[in-house]
Parts: sequence; structure tokens; C-alpha cells
Amino acid sequence: SAHTRALQALDSAHFLHPFTDHQALAAKGARVITRAEGIYVWDSEGHRILDGMSGLWCVNAGYGRRELAEAAYRQMLELPFYNAFFQTTTEPAVRLAQRLTALAPPVNGRRFSHVFFTSSGSEANDTNVRLVRRYWDLMGQPQRKVIISRWNAYHGSTVAAASLGGMAGMHAQGDLPIPGIVHIEQPYYWQHRRSDETPAAFGLRAARWLEEKILEVGPERVAAFIAEPVQGAGGVIIPPETYWPEVQRIVDKYGILLISDEVICAFGRLGHWFAYERFGTQPDLVTFAKAVTSGYIPLGGVLVNERVARVLIEGGEFTHGYTYSGHPVACAVALANLDLMAREHLPERVRHDTGPYLAQRFAELTDHPLVGVAETCGFVAGLILVRDKATLAPFPEEWAVGMTCRAHCFDTGVVMRAVGDRMIIAPPLVMTRADIDDMIALIRRALDATWADLRQQG
Ligand code: PLP
Repeated sequence: SAHTRALQALDSAHFLHPFTDHQALAAKGARVITRAEGIYVWDSEGHRILDGMSGLWCVNAGYGRRELAEAAYRQMLELPFYNAFFQTTTEPAVRLAQRLTALAPPVNGRRFSHVFFTSSGSEANDTNVRLVRRYWDLMGQPQRKVIISRWNAYHGSTVAAASLGGMAGMHAQGDLPIPGIVHIEQPYYWQHRRSDETPAAFGLRAARWLEEKILEVGPERVAAFIAEPVQGAGGVIIPPETYWPEVQRIVDKYGILLISDEVICAFGRLGHWFAYERFGTQPDLVTFAKAVTSGYIPLGGVLVNERVARVLIEGGEFTHGYTYSGHPVACAVALANLDLMAREHLPERVRHDTGPYLAQRFAELTDHPLVGVAETCGFVAGLILVRDKATLAPFPEEWAVGMTCRAHCFDTGVVMRAVGDRMIIAPPLVMTRADIDDMIALIRRALDATWADLRQQG
């Protein structure tokens, strides 16, 4: 319509989009998303699209949840803002800090006691860099500065978070990483396995890349290891079950802090409130953002365990913070969201019911001629599109088969993301089994359309 075209023209004239090729965007015109309800979004031309990505891994409670809007409205009228710098605090921030520490179960008697609030995952990971270096200074080991991360990780877009991340394309722009951040390979079985290597054996070998890097850097210089429990933006890279216990053994052996970046994986996404529960690790710091408010308002932060928090507190002022650290409106929305998720048992539903059902239905897609592998963990899942199902030989990169499939998904009415030829989803946790059936049917249609394109091209 004329209205859509006018918005598209203004969009291309004025809006610099995140992670977007603007020439490709201008050629097509941005799809204008106008409203949403449940698990669906609508565009300005009236198309209904099933949101297989929960916005951007965040709308775990689904759209149209009035009580979240009402929590924001009430808090804005009562106290729209106050800072936490002037030896002041607000009730929503206090209550949320308490709630998050209570939701995060202790491991081996070690509990999470404190929260540092930010407005995003990127800021939270920047906070981690400063926080772990501060911790080691206070511990009398100031030479411990190096943070080990993984290639293909995504930890955000601020300078430190993009350095922690392992995306070569991000490092190439802007002289990253900053000093003191080094990377190891990701535990991606389908890329790095040796012939005849089982996933279990591969998981152990991949974890030991961490030990090799620690020894290379010098254990006395390593401050922390940061990783996503399941790499999300990198393509839903699900590690073998042997990986995390071995990583835990290694960080314990060298006394290195473990940072679990759960910006995607927390709040029910893997069937638990926090993803470290799924893999049985014992992080010192947990990064969160996104679904803490189901994406209704920006909020992020770092959960800090008692051992680290005590050192920070006894060490005096930590010269770090944001205007919006503990923003009362964001915290009020988070509290309402956590109430809602608890009342509807969303983590348990994913763990015991809808997650296993999604895994079963997703696995059925491997009968499609394009699909080599289908993997699921809770409510994240990935398909690998391959040229040869027997050998898993990939398509030539320049064919951009994943991007073609993504376009067919949108046209068919389902959002899937393409990371190379890995097609990934992270649907809202409120999905029923019938919703999952609808989603799988749409994905199958998009795969068929992609297959038809490829055959036409010969
Ligand atoms: N960490 C992880 C694992 C993420 O997936 C993201 C965003 O996708 C971030 C950090 C950055 O969060 P934000 O975009 O809120 O800054």
C-alpha cells in the first residue's frame, strides 16, 4: 500500500538498522511490522507471520500480555525513574534483585546473592569484563586480566562485548578484539568432529581446548572463561553432554571464574529458569537480558555469586554503573513477567512437554531432501541444509541457500533465522502442541519452496 511504501522510503532515508546490508534492504523495502498477539506478528500489508524467533530470542511469554503493559503503566505513574547512585534505591529493583537470586538455584552450596543491573546484554558483558578484573585486583592477583572466549560466540556489540564475541566479521570492523581477550574453537560437532568420533568424545576434546589455551596464556594470567551454554546467534550450536562438565573441571582446576552468558538461554528457553541448571555447571557470574522482561522493555544484568560479591563489597566502590541500572519501570515489568512465567509453568512446560514434542516434530524434518541434521535443546532448534544427505556435504556458500530459505519462510508465514545454511528457531514458550504442528507445517512448506528453487536452477 501507499502507506507501507511511504514508511519504507522514510526507513531507507533515515534509519540505520543493526546488522543489515542497507543496499539489499533498500532494494526490497523493509517489512513493516505493525502489531502482534500470542505467537503471531502482522505486517502492514496484513500478512500474519508465526514468530519462530520470539522477536529476537526474547518474547518468551508471547505477545499481547496486558499485565506487563499494566505493570509498566502503574510504575510510570508511581515512580517513572530514580537512580541508584545517591545511596538511593527503589522497590522494584530491590524486589527483582531478590527474586532473581532466589530463582537461581545454588550449586554445591554456592549461591547467587547479588545482581548488577544494566539495560542490555552488551552492557552486562562489558560489566563482566570490568567486574572480573576488579575482583582479581582485590584478590591481590592483578596479573589475572585475560578473558578466554570462543570463536563464533555472540556477546553483544559494545566494544568489550564485541571483543568477547568471536565473530570474525565484527572483529574486522573496528580493530577488535581489545587486548586481553583470546578465543578458542566452539564445540561444534558437525564442523570439527574427526571421522568416527562420537559426540561424547568430541565434547571432551573440545573442552580441553580451553585447558590448552589456559596453559598457553599462563594460568596465573587468566581471569575468566565466558561462554553461552548453547551458542545462539552463532547458529544454535548445542554442545555434546560431555562438554560442560569437563569445562567446569578445568575452570575449577585453575581457579578461573566462569561466566555463563544466558542472555538467550535463561528464563525457560532451555527448560529451566537458568541454563546452567540444564548443564550442571557452577558459574560465578550469569549474564541475562532479553526474556527477563519477555522483551517488553529493555533490561539486562549480571547475577553475581556470593563469593565474588563479598569481595566486591568489601573492596569499596566499584566505579561502574549506568543511569538506568535498576530502572524501576523495567524492573516492575520483569517482576510481572517472572510472575506470569511461574504461574503458567513455562520452564517446566518446555522441559517436560512442549520441548520434547518440538524435538520430536523437528527431528521428523530430516526426511526432507534438504535437511541433513535437525537438533533441539529446549525451545531452540537448528536444521542444517545440505547438498548431500549421506555425507552432509554443504552447498557452495555463494548460493546463499539459507537466505533463500529464510525468504521463503517469511513468505510462507513463519520467521526462521539463517546462519549460513543453518536454519534456526527459538519460538515463544507459550506455544501449544497444536502451535508446534502449525509451525512445522509452515517450515516444511518453506523447505519445499527452497528445494523447488534449487531444482529449477539445476
Ligand atoms: N549475549 C548473548 C548470548 C546474546 O545473544 C546477545 C544478543 O543477542 C547479547 C549478549 C547482547 O545483548 P543485547 O543485544 O541486549 O545488548
